Amino acid sequence: MDDIVKIQLSPSVEDYLKGIYTLTERGGPASTSALAQTLGVQPASITGMIKRLASLGYVEHLPYKGVQLTENGSIEALRILRRHRILETYLQQQLDYTWSEVHQEAELLEHAVSEKLISRMANVLNDPTHDPHGAPIPTESGDIPEAHLLTLLDARPNDLVQIEAVQDEDPIKLQYLEESGLTPGTRATIVKRNSFDGLTSLTVVGSSQLTPVSHELARDIFVSKVQD
Ligand SMILES: [Zn+2]
Repeated sequence: MDDIVKIQLSPSVEDYLKGIYTLTERGGPASTSALAQTLGVQPASITGMIKRLASLGYVEHLPYKGVQLTENGSIEALRILRRHRILETYLQQQLDYTWSEVHQEAELLEHAVSEKLISRMANVLNDPTHDPHGAPIPTESGDIPEAHLLTLLDARPNDLVQIEAVQDEDPIKLQYLEESGLTPGTRATIVKRNSFDGLTSLTVVGSSQLTPVSHELARDIFVSKVQD
């Protein structure tokens, strides 16, 4: 037996911590309604879990504002994110999963695999820094590069942008993005945005085709602006 007793967190605790991390990445606490939406549960049902997480020292509840992770909560959230993102990368690179399939599989496996397996997978992959959707993978010691927080909605006509990451959850959106060539590393020029419906039209560098991106999809595409 190890001297250090490792507390085994339940899958739902892990999902809560990961959800809060994702919502608070942009700064500021996560509202309980946003958290309920992220986790796909009723707002009323999360109060008990938030109290439990607070008593375990993982979150702070700020009245009327929402919840945020404590330092210990962040450590756990980053550990789960690392597992999730290593799994996604492994499934794609070693087991020929497509990038639209890996998220659902990783959601299940992240709660079950041992630290040893994750570290072996990371080794085989030469310690990847980003997952198939462009999200940074926390290191074993819990460091993570700053996430790209600008979305396509922040870009204006004539801007040249580079796609850095995309939301990983919806397989249908991911398929569309792949078919349109809108994957991490791709550069594109914003051609126009309709004021009435927010539709963005862009051209991928090297192509002459105009690609339409809905307002909803643009929110899920993280970009950096390229200085020219
Ligand atoms: Zn994922």
